[in-house]
Amino acid sequence: MCAPKTLLKKIQKSDNSHFDVQSLSSNKIYQVNVDTTSCNCSDFPHIYLCKHLVAIIHYFEGADLKPQPLSNADKVSEPVVSSSLVQ
Ligand SMILES: [Zn+2]
Repeated sequence: MCAPKTLLKKIQKSDNSHFDVQSLSSNKIYQVNVDTTSCNCSDFPHIYLCKHLVAIIHYFEGADLKPQPLSNADKVSEPVVSSSLVQ
């Protein structure tokens, strides 16, 4: 798997359409909205595209951008049996 050479530290999925992208060069965190394909960095208003948006589209390739069913994401915790009952 070849990753694009972008100055990105990490990408965090905030919800199904929002991603937080941390820039390596500035330590700022940019918010990318894949629904509207926009980003709040300073590059975006000039060219309506930026490395953050490109990186997210590249990494996730649209596959992870759809709403996904919650299957085993949340484990149902078992009720804890109190040991004080066993004596
Ligand atoms: Zn951006």
